[in-house]
Amino acid sequence: MPATEIIERTLARGGYRLTAPRRALLEAMQDLDDHFTAEDVVTAAPEVGRATVFRTLRLMQDIGVVCQVVLDDGSVAYRLTSGGHHHHMVCSQCGAVADFTSHDIEDVLQQLADRTGYEIDAHRLEMYGRCPRCRALPDE
Ligand SMILES: [Zn+2]
Ligand SMILES: [Zn+2]
Ligand SMILES: [Zn+2]
Repeated sequence: MPATEIIERTLARGGYRLTAPRRALLEAMQDLDDHFTAEDVVTAAPEVGRATVFRTLRLMQDIGVVCQVVLDDGSVAYRLTSGGHHHHMVCSQCGAVADFTSHDIEDVLQQLADRTGYEIDAHRLEMYGRCPRCRALPDE
C-alpha cells in the first residue's frame, strides 16, 4: 500500500496539496481493508463531510492514487494503488483482491481495437475465482 509521502508527491505532481481533509481520508483508507466502499470511508472519517469524501475519491482516482474494482456481485469498491495501469484478480470466496499487469493482454486489446476500428480510451478487466489461500483450504 502506498505510503502517505508517495501519495503526497503524486498529488503535488498533479498540482494538488495534501490538505487536512485529504490527509484524514488517506489515513482512514490506509486503515481500511484492501478494498472498501465510499460508505466505508464516510464512516471511517466522520470529521470529513460526505460530499468531500466523494469528491476526494474522484480526485484520487483521476491522479491514480485510488482505483476502482468491480466485485463479483457487480458492486464497485475502491482500493489504494501505487499507480500505473493494472487489472485485478478477485477471490469470490474471501474477497481478496490482487493486482496484475500483462503485456500480452494489452497487446490483444490493441489488436482488437485495430480490428474493430474503435479508438479505446479505457478498459477494465477483473478475473474472478479462488485465491491460493482459499484453494489451499480443505473443502467443507
Ligand atoms: Zn487496482
Ligand atoms: Zn480467497
Ligand atoms: Zn489493461
